[in-house]
Amino acid sequence: MQNPLLDWNGATPPWDQITAQHLEAAVEQVIERNRSLIRQIEAEKSPCWDNSVAVLEQADNDLHKAFQPGAHLHSVQNTSEWRAAYEACLPKLTQYSSELGQNQALYRAYQTVSQQTGLDQEQQQVLAHALRDFKLSGVSLDAPRQKRFQDIQLRLAELSNSFEQHLLDATDAWQHQITDEADLAGLPPSAREAAAAKAHSKQLPGWLFGLDFPSFDAVMTHAQDRAWRELTYRAYTTRASDQSEKADVDNGPLMDEILQLRAEQAQLLGFANYAEVSLASKMAESPDQVERFLLDLAGKARPAALRELAELQDFASSRGGPESLQPWDVAFYSEQLKQQRFGLEDEALKPYFALPNVLKGMFHAAQTLFGVRFRQADLPVWHEHVMGFEVLGEQDTVMAWFFLDPYAREQKRGGAWMNDMAGRMRLPAQTQLPIATLTCNSAPPTGDKPALLTHDDAVTLFHEFGHGLQHMLTQVSQLSVSGINGVPWDAVELPSQFMENWCWEEEALQQFAHHYETGEAIPSEWIRQIRASRRFHAGLAAVRQVELALFDLRLHRASSAADVQATLDQVRSEVAVLTPPAWNRFANSFSHIFAGGYAAGYYSYKWAEVLAADAFEAFQEAGIFDQATGLRFRQCILETGGSEDAMALFKQFRGREPQVDALLRQDGLLEEVA
Ligand code: ZN
Repeated sequence: MQNPLLDWNGATPPWDQITAQHLEAAVEQVIERNRSLIRQIEAEKSPCWDNSVAVLEQADNDLHKAFQPGAHLHSVQNTSEWRAAYEACLPKLTQYSSELGQNQALYRAYQTVSQQTGLDQEQQQVLAHALRDFKLSGVSLDAPRQKRFQDIQLRLAELSNSFEQHLLDATDAWQHQITDEADLAGLPPSAREAAAAKAHSKQLPGWLFGLDFPSFDAVMTHAQDRAWRELTYRAYTTRASDQSEKADVDNGPLMDEILQLRAEQAQLLGFANYAEVSLASKMAESPDQVERFLLDLAGKARPAALRELAELQDFASSRGGPESLQPWDVAFYSEQLKQQRFGLEDEALKPYFALPNVLKGMFHAAQTLFGVRFRQADLPVWHEHVMGFEVLGEQDTVMAWFFLDPYAREQKRGGAWMNDMAGRMRLPAQTQLPIATLTCNSAPPTGDKPALLTHDDAVTLFHEFGHGLQHMLTQVSQLSVSGINGVPWDAVELPSQFMENWCWEEEALQQFAHHYETGEAIPSEWIRQIRASRRFHAGLAAVRQVELALFDLRLHRASSAADVQATLDQVRSEVAVLTPPAWNRFANSFSHIFAGGYAAGYYSYKWAEVLAADAFEAFQEAGIFDQATGLRFRQCILETGGSEDAMALFKQFRGREPQVDALLRQDGLLEEVA
């Protein structure tokens, strides 16, 4: 019988037929076929687009389509069968992709093709990205250097893994038991229940608190006992460091070695430092440009952050709090102040955000702005809650499909994300249409009520929909630069953060935030409060993000291993408004840059926020439902994606480069004059 993962051309994945045992077989079969195609390309005497690049693009497409639906099911119905199937595929895929990256014959074929004439813009971009990635994987080095490069890669993978492992061990090793209920003062019922369950699972009486984020966060935000907050803060911010109680898991030496090896790797590749390597595939042009961007943002956000801190200090004092706020006081008093200022409860808002109404509002916005329609369709799905949709363009032709899996359930990964099952691609016989999945985790409907979302849930759904639109409205024909493919890391959050705005604007909320029983629009006063809460302590948050980003950037600008703590202290002295104690070892748990993919890329969060805020201002100027502006956004950003230079595209849309002030205005940081 045919494997359903290998047999869904021209349609959506046959979700109802795919089982875990199909995955490994499908992946193996495609990899084997791809290897023989690659051998043919290697043997090609006169490589050209059609006999080389197009063949490899098609091979990538086949592998993507064989694996991706299975990887998706692994995330949303995480049974032991799916876990085993997924894990069996990972080493095979890693092996295959490193073969590709190191393949000198392929590299030469791509070089040859890139010098040929008659290539269109999309083809040139495919080649430019591929040659860049070949170069970044060390393919053009001589043999001894290539060997050294690969050794470094392996060692870095080990180090990252150990970094994360140490952090997990350090997080798990610490616990704090409470046996007198009075000591829990301030904690909400959900946090108490979780702590009681944790104690129970270890056969201990009372309540047990750890350093996992929900537990840490609950104590910092709600615990009235200041000494307990300090104790927890100290344990949390010294994890995996020379200051922690468990000195055997110190990440310090690992961080030094990671930075040293990254610097060496950069030099092997011909870059001055690792920050340059990281930026080679990003929208930002140079470390200097990023540094200027961050300092500009810090300088402009700091006055507001200082004001917010002074106000918080006054508030704390008026409540009998400490004379001088410490880092373990900030979240606690912020929460109190927030409650006093915005009494609005999630529960009261939920009837205005029933899923059917939110979807209506989301589709209405996209239809008005971008001229596309959405129609629910009877497509195979993987769970009864999942909805399939067609995206309709001119004359109601289907231009893409997507699946929405909205509710939390057992064996489904938490959080929210957009995933691509297939990208747009011109094939000899037809054009392959994009397919996306949008996964959220809001509360399912109960009884005969529709699912009622929190405002946060609605914002998240709009966010993922924004990613989805960039993937689905693409008009690009070459797979590796169509949809979200090939979009630089620091620009990929532009459409998603941009779409969130239609959940914050009065005009949009009036249009869809209607009570699910009475049909009444949400009261204007509530909209005002929702909007004000978005800006609460925005200055403090911005300054904190800049601190992390600048620290990350400077660590990776050094030509050899930088002194981690000295770099952090220096950044804090320039940027922070509240300096942590000297024993704070935040860097030792900064997984984003030491164990994740964010090295010299943490700035991307703020960078993309600026793009989204600035793009949105074009709509505030023209009207948030202005179709001419919407179509321009569709054309410059959504349809073109990674096929052209991201800065050039932004400039095409906005008529100029992005401006930091747009974000500051959105966050309310430019308005008040002291
Ligand atoms: Zn996102």
